[in-house]
Amino acid sequence: MSDHYISIVSEKTNPTDAQELAKRIFSYLTEKKIIQKELSDCVLGSTGHRPAENFGAILEKQNEGFWDLKTNGVEIITERTVFENGGNGLEQVKCPNCGQNQIEENWENSLDHWYTKSDSDLVKCSNCSSKNSITKFDFKPNWGFGNFGLIFWNWGKFKSHFFTDLEKVIGTELKVVYGKL
Ligand SMILES: [Zn+2]
Repeated sequence: MSDHYISIVSEKTNPTDAQELAKRIFSYLTEKKIIQKELSDCVLGSTGHRPAENFGAILEKQNEGFWDLKTNGVEIITERTVFENGGNGLEQVKCPNCGQNQIEENWENSLDHWYTKSDSDLVKCSNCSSKNSITKFDFKPNWGFGNFGLIFWNWGKFKSHFFTDLEKVIGTELKVVYGKL
């Protein structure tokens, strides 16, 4: 069975604020008993928090057999990350200036530069010649770029108010990225 994940990304959080924000979100989600306090092997490639007894409060529809899955945790990310959509495919990488799809152009290097902070992350649009950071391009399906995010593994469909509640706690706009491995 493939694993589905939903990343909730704050693109505007500064790296210096990410740890503090992680503590706040951890308190918020554990006090509501949505996730467990303990870290365990319940996400792919790292450790995360398994669901706690009130997990259903944020879900419109849970994944079948969700509670018993090996991979059903929440990972709290506090470092520079490209939140991508895994094997779901990418249709568009649109220029933020003229809106033309630049997916056929060479933007991967710029993204790599952004991630490693090794060189310029600017991409020159082949249509309008404007230069913008690759993180400003409009990815379809959504991708997110930032220093803070939550990745929910195999939870299911969220109630929409969960995202707006989180935006209030986090204090920035959030981007939701749907992924599959
Ligand atoms: Zn353009």
